[in-house]
Order: sequence, then C-alpha cells, then structure tokens
Amino acid sequence: MPDQRFDVVVIGGGIVGLATGLQFGRAFPKLRLLLVEKESDVAQHQSGHNSGVIHSGIYYKPGSLKARLCVEGAAAMAEFCREHGIAVQVCGKIIVATTNEEIPRMQALLERGQANGISGLKLLSKEQAREIEPHCGGVGWLHVPGTAITDYPAVCKKYAELIAAQGGTVSTSTEVTGIRRTNGDAVVETTRGAFATKYVINCAGLHSDRVSHMAGEKTEVTIVPFRGEYYDLVPERGYLVHGLIYPVPDLRFPFLGVHFTRRVHGGVDAGPNAVLALKREGYRRSDFSFRDIAGTLAYSGFWNMARRYWRSGAGEIYRSLHKPAMVRAMQALLPEITGTDIVSDGSGVRATAVSRDGSLVDDFQFKCSQNILHVWNVVSPAATASLPIGREIVGMAERGFGLQSN
Ligand SMILES: Cc1cc2nc3c(=O)[nH]c(=O)nc-3n(C[C@H](O)[C@H](O)[C@H](O)COP(=O)(O)OP(=O)(O)OC[C@H]3O[C@@H](n4cnc5c(N)ncnc54)[C@H](O)[C@@H]3O)c2cc1C
Repeated sequence: MPDQRFDVVVIGGGIVGLATGLQFGRAFPKLRLLLVEKESDVAQHQSGHNSGVIHSGIYYKPGSLKARLCVEGAAAMAEFCREHGIAVQVCGKIIVATTNEEIPRMQALLERGQANGISGLKLLSKEQAREIEPHCGGVGWLHVPGTAITDYPAVCKKYAELIAAQGGTVSTSTEVTGIRRTNGDAVVETTRGAFATKYVINCAGLHSDRVSHMAGEKTEVTIVPFRGEYYDLVPERGYLVHGLIYPVPDLRFPFLGVHFTRRVHGGVDAGPNAVLALKREGYRRSDFSFRDIAGTLAYSGFWNMARRYWRSGAGEIYRSLHKPAMVRAMQALLPEITGTDIVSDGSGVRATAVSRDGSLVDDFQFKCSQNILHVWNVVSPAATASLPIGREIVGMAERGFGLQSN
C-alpha cells in the first residue's frame, strides 16, 4: 500500500524539476505536489556545477524551443533574481573570432541572434573590443551586452522555498527506485516509501533515461555524460577578464568551447571542456562507475557518435590531459594568459542525449506517455530558461493529462 497520495510527483531537485514544481503551484494552487530528490539537498548535480551564465539566446536555431525559452527565460531569470535578492550582474559577453575562417560563422551567429529577437548585438572593431575587454585577442568581435551572471544554487534554493510556501512538499534524500502503474494512477517507489499519484514528471537530469526505463518507457535517446573541467584564474590575474569572453562555437555541438566567465561572487573561471565522463555523476577524472561506462559502451548510438566526432573528441581529451594544449586554446582568446595563471578547479557533467544514429540531440526533448511526462536533454541553456521550461511542462501536462485548474 502506498504511504501517501499526491496529484503530481516531480522527480529531481535540479533547477528544471524545481521550476516545474513552482509553476505547477502557481497554475494549480490546490494541487497536492511532491518533489523528490535523491541527494540531501537540491542543486547537487548539473544545476550546482555550471558556469552561472544567464545566456542571451544567440546560439540557438530560430524557432527551436531552446531559442524561444532562452530569450524569454533570460529576462524572467534576471527579474526573479532581483525580486528575491539573489546576486545577478549584467556584465555582457564578447564572442571572439580567432581566425579569419571564423568570421562568416560569427556573422551567422549575429544573424541568428537578431532572428531570435536579441537586442544590442554589435560587431566591434579591435579598438571597441579593447575598450570592453582590454586583454582579449582575436580578429573579429561580437558584443552581446545583455548576457548576465547569477548564482544558480541560490536560485534553486529559492524555488524550493517557494514550492513549500505554496503548499507543496520537497523531500530530499528520497531516491526513486521504481514506478508502477495501477488503475490509471502511478505508484512512485522511493527509499522513503511509496507514493501514489495521478501524474509523474521525470526531471531526473543525468538519470532521466533510467527513470523512464523504470516506468517501462522505451527511450529513443540515451544519456551520455560529458564532463566539463574548469580552471580558475589566479586572483592576481583576474583583471585580464572584465565580463565574459567566448569563442565562436561549432554549432554542430551543444558545447560552447572553452571560455572565460566572471563569477557573480568573484573570481574568473576558464572552461569547461567536454570529455566523456566515466561516471554519470562523477566530478573527478578518476571517478568510474562500471554500470555507467558499461551502459555507454553497450549503446550503439555511442559508437555512431564516436565515428562521427572522433577528431574533435580526441582534441578535447588531449587538452584535458595536457595542460599546455589547454593553455594554447585559451591564448587564442586571451594572448597574455600563461600556464601559471590557471589552477584546476571543479567540473560539471552534462546530461547529453544521444540518438541511435549517433547524433547529439539539439533541442530540449519532452515526451508525454500516459500519465508520465519525461524531460530529456534539458542541457544548457536550461538553467537560464528554467522558468519558461517549467511553465511549458505544466502546459504539456494540462494538454496531455487533461489536468484542470480546481
Ligand atoms: C558544465 C556545465 C555548464 C553549464 N553552464 C550553464 C550556464 O552557464 N547557463 C545555463 O543556463 N545552463 C548551463 N548549464 C546547463 C544547466 O546547468 C542544466 O541544463 C540544468 O542544470 C539542468 O537541470 P536539471 O534539473 O535538468 O538537472 P540536474 O540539476 O542534474 O537535476 C536532476 C536531479 O535529479 C536527481 N535525480 C536523479 N535520479 C533520481 C532518482 N532516481 N530519484 C530522485 N532524484 C533523482 C538528481 O540527484 C539531480 O539533483 C551547464 C551545465 C553544465 C554541466
């Protein structure tokens, strides 16, 4: 027998699950909502190990969910932070073309940004770029003045507080171990008992495919974890970076390339790169999970991906293992930087969804299956876009489950 009954159970106390819980409470104040998180606190994985950037939306294909929800989410996130006293700073970003071959790609990025409705974008001369970032190198510069930085773990804690204030329950140290369907309802089995519910929302991030499998769902994608390693700029050289300095990304990949990011509470990060992680929630290079690596190696999509992208993958591994190569990549953006200016810092692991044919899923992905909604591939910029993502999920639940306001 289930221990308690709810209307909705959200699985995952990362920024997406929490924003979803918050938006459910706003739209359906009488709904009995439970959010379960396996760790002892919220934001322990992707949402607490990221770059802290409120992205503008310049990178994403016009018309995609990423583009629409990022642009809307950036404004909503900045407003949310101001309203709740969370640190936020609009520091702007310069995207640097490091070779002449990158100039057409930078121009295409400008057009993408304009198509996505981002204001203030401007190509800069060397002198103009140097006024904003006196130490940056390169041969072409695109200014994105509205890009901001914030503290996403603080945002997550505030979302959790607001869910509780709305009457919902956030239960940490509660790991979902199984999902059963009974008479149109679902029973979510956890390490703290079983909960009956009408609807389930799976926002389990790096484990979102496994949670789907628990519910008997055949997924079209598998999560392949990519670790991003950060370096810290030593404080004496912090003056080299005023705001955010990014390369022109290769838009075939959902990664932005190694960049420099000023942190909202001080300090400058350099990174992250993108190397295959040997453990889904492993933050050190030595972290290894037999289950995780065996799952990745047994997946045909992984081998198809490796065949397609082996060259860039090998470059990332080389830079990860060989600091001078990483420093050379950084010097393309910031010529004055040397190996003694950076020290290893933390890392984050991205929940990248890979299709069977080896392609990296580009957009956010959702699937409503009976009374369970699965959320996959909510990778960057999902922290920025979390509030509208949560609202979209509530909308999908309304349409998919026939949920009505009471
Ligand atoms: C290195 C890096 C840099 C990034 N930089 C940015 C950035 O600057 N700006 C931006 O907008 N986005 C950025 N992102 C992306 C952003 O951080 C993620 O898109 C976002 O945090 C995803 O949130 P989530 O809630 O889906 O996942 P998560 O934060 O990973 O949360 C999922 C939660 O589900 C829980 N869970 C899993 N399985 C179970 C289970 N069985 N039972 C109970 N709980 C479970 C996990 O413990 C976890 O807390 C970055 C990501 C990474 C990795």
